Parts: sequence; C-alpha cells; structure tokens
Amino acid sequence: MGSVEMKDWLIVGAGFAGSVLAERIASQLNQSVLVIDRRPHIGGNAYDELDEAGVLLHRYGPHIFHTNSKDIFEYLSKFTEWRPYEHRVLAQVRGKLVPIPINRTTLNELYGVSLNSDQEAQEYLNGVAEPVANIRTSEDVVVNAVGRELYELFFQGYTRKQWGLDPSELDKSVTARVPTRTNTDDRYFTDEFQAMPKDGYTKMFEKMLDHPNIEVRLGVEWADIKHSNKYNRIIFTGPIDEYYEFRFGKLPYRSLLFEHKSIHVKEFQSVGTVNYPSPDVPYTRISEYKHLTGQDHSWTTITYEYPSAEGDPYYPIPRPENQELFKRYEELSLNETNVHFVGRLATYRYYNMDQVVGQALAKFRRICPA
Ligand code: FAD
Ligand code: UDP
Repeated sequence: MGSVEMKDWLIVGAGFAGSVLAERIASQLNQSVLVIDRRPHIGGNAYDELDEAGVLLHRYGPHIFHTNSKDIFEYLSKFTEWRPYEHRVLAQVRGKLVPIPINRTTLNELYGVSLNSDQEAQEYLNGVAEPVANIRTSEDVVVNAVGRELYELFFQGYTRKQWGLDPSELDKSVTARVPTRTNTDDRYFTDEFQAMPKDGYTKMFEKMLDHPNIEVRLGVEWADIKHSNKYNRIIFTGPIDEYYEFRFGKLPYRSLLFEHKSIHVKEFQSVGTVNYPSPDVPYTRISEYKHLTGQDHSWTTITYEYPSAEGDPYYPIPRPENQELFKRYEELSLNETNVHFVGRLATYRYYNMDQVVGQALAKFRRICPA
C-alpha cells in the first residue's frame, strides 16, 4: 500500500465494532482514524449489496436488526431511517412447515391437536418435558422445556449440522437463544425495536464512516501494516488468536458457505427464513431477502446456508474448553495499554449486532478522556 500519514488511531475491521468506534472517536474526540479491512467493502458481516438481478442481498447471510436498548436504536438512527420488520421463521418438520420458536400453533399443526389456551399448551408441554436438574448444555435446555421428541425434530439435527457438534457438547446459551412459547406469537424475536435499515446496512455504514477525520482503506491486512508505527493506538476487531499469532493454539470458529440464487419469481417462500432441521438436508436454512427489505421486484434472491469447518470465522463456538483458551488470550489483551479488543471475533462472544454496538459504545466511554 502507499504511504500512510500519522494517525491517532488504527482500527482493524470495518464492521459494527470498528465503524461505531471510528465514528465516535472522529466525531466526539476530534481525533484521526485509519480504518482498514481485508475485505473489499465496509460493513463486516452485515454488508449488503444489489446482486446482478438488482435485488438487495446480504452477502454473509440474513441480518435482522432487533434490540431492547433504546440507546442503541437511537444511536444507529443517526445514520439511517428504518423499515419496521418482524422476522418470522418456519421449520420444515415431518413434511410440514410449522412455526419456530415452538409455540401453540406448532404443537397443534404437528400433532393435530387443538390446544386453545396458554394453559392447555403448558399442560401439554409439561406432559412431554423431561426436567433436567442442572441445565448445562444445549441439549438440557431444550429437553427440559419440550422433551426429547421435539428436541430431536427441531434442534438435534439442525445443531449437529450448524456446529458439527451434538447439542450435548455445546453451552446452554446456544439453543437458549430460541425460546419455547405457549401462546401463538410466531415472531422470531420479541425485542421492543425490530427494524431494517431503510436503504440497507451498507448505506448506514457509509454514513457512519463519512467524516473528515476518518480514512478507510479496503483490501488491507493488519499483518501488512502492523509494523508501520504510524498510529498511536489500535482497536482490533478481528479474531483475537490471530492478533497473538496463535501462540496458544487456534480458537475454534464455525464457518458457513452461502449459496445465493436469484430466481425470476416474485416470491419463493412465505416468510423470511425457512429452517431445515432434518439431517437429510445439507443446509440449515433458506432466507429470502425481499421479506426483510420490502423491495418490490419481479425477481427474488434467496440464500442457502451450508455449515462448514473451513472458511471465514463467523461463529465463536460456545463450550467450556474454548472459553478457557479464549481466557488465556484475554489475559494477554488485558495487559495491553494501547490496543483494545472489541467485537464478536476479538472478544469471542456469540453477539448479535446490537450487542456489538453496545459493547463498542461502552468501550468508547472507557477510552474517552473524562
Ligand atoms: P465483523 O462484522 O465480523 O467485522 C470484523 C471485520 O474485521 C471483518 O470485516 C473482517 O474482514 C475484518 N478483519 C478481521 N481480521 C482482519 C485483519 N487481520 N486485517 C484486516 N481486516 C480484518 N446479528 C443480528 O443482530 N441479527 C441477525 O439476524 C444476525 N444474523 C447473522 C447471520 C449470520 C450468518 C452471521 C454469521 C452473523 C449474524 N449476526 C446477526 C451477527 C452479526 O453478524 C455480528 O454481531 C456483527 O456483524 C459483528 O460485528 P463485528 O464488527 O464484531 O464483526
Ligand atoms: N436452532 C435449532 N433449530 C432451529 C433454530 C435454531 O437447533 O430451528 C439452534 C441451533 O443450534 C442454532 C441456535 O439454536 O445454532 C441458535 O439459533 P439462531 O437462529 O439464533 O442462530 P443464528 O441466527 O445466530 O445462526
């Protein structure tokens, strides 16, 4: 790369973690920032773009914004308007498409029963649930709530595909992301704020990074500029084990292959995402963006997600031995005075977008001079 001027800050990664901190430092501290990313675009995994058919797609799989934090929603609202959107997901189970999270409708449609109230549904679940005294794993959470049959139908196959591990080998926090309901609410999320950036995520990131104190350089690797000494402080949002050159060994991350397909029909499926928990289907889910974006187009674009051990690091894998390895890296990071680690990869946390924004804003408050 060409010559680089001296900057107050170098930020590695132009996703939510890096872009929020760049924006805050540039606009609130009036300090200069160089943001780099190895990819040819900003936005990290939330990046969206028009495909060849002219349909807005999320290159790294469907991203639905949801939060209970008014502060986080208001902060992002400085950079985008919103399109209200509540995500709905169906699961293909025993040849039927039924709501997931499991709710009363799921039970009625799957078993041909007619449970008419929350209480009746709860009684039904009490009859099949297998209480687990000490809930530790992702199997425990689900079996405790809905019993083994529903666990196997909806969770075991999906989780084995998604993580390459049985739910009994994963921390409870993974499947606990998906609740069980006795009502008929079929929304995937129940957060107070649920919306999509009106003109897409990338446009929102462009606005965030549009500041005279911010320079963005794309297609640049941290490894290629780390010895240039042209910046006083660093924010690193890539994988923490990579920063420390894997000195304690590799932290496991799960990857996905995305197969994007444009089809000349108005609508492919009735909801944003359909999950395929069956072990006989190689992908975990199919998402159709027009439900999320509201785009009016004669074509539609869908994405199949195929889990993979190889590829970009998308998911930290929550299990005790990985957390222990992360802690060793974290200990090194806590002794750094001029390097800060923020984001899903750098703090090895299975965080949603709003949680990463919250983490970045909290980090800004700590680095901000009083
Ligand atoms: P990232 O977005 O990963 O950004 C890190 C950036 O750093 C990347 O662009 C990377 O290229 C760059 N980088 C890393 N290392 C280097 C290096 N050495 N040199 C240069 N650049 C480097 N969250 C939700 O809230 N709702 C959803 O619906 C949702 N769906 C998701 C679906 C999928 C398939 C995935 C994988 C995630 C989903 N998420 C969702 C989570 C969301 O993607 C993350 O919370 C968020 O994008 C994390 O932001 P980040 O800045 O921490 O990391
Ligand atoms: N999960 C499942 N079946 C489903 C949906 C989710 O087994 O139909 C499990 C699976 O282990 C998944 C986890 O619950 O990885 C969290 O699901 P979520 O939809 O939150 O995953 P993400 O959108 O983060 O990939």
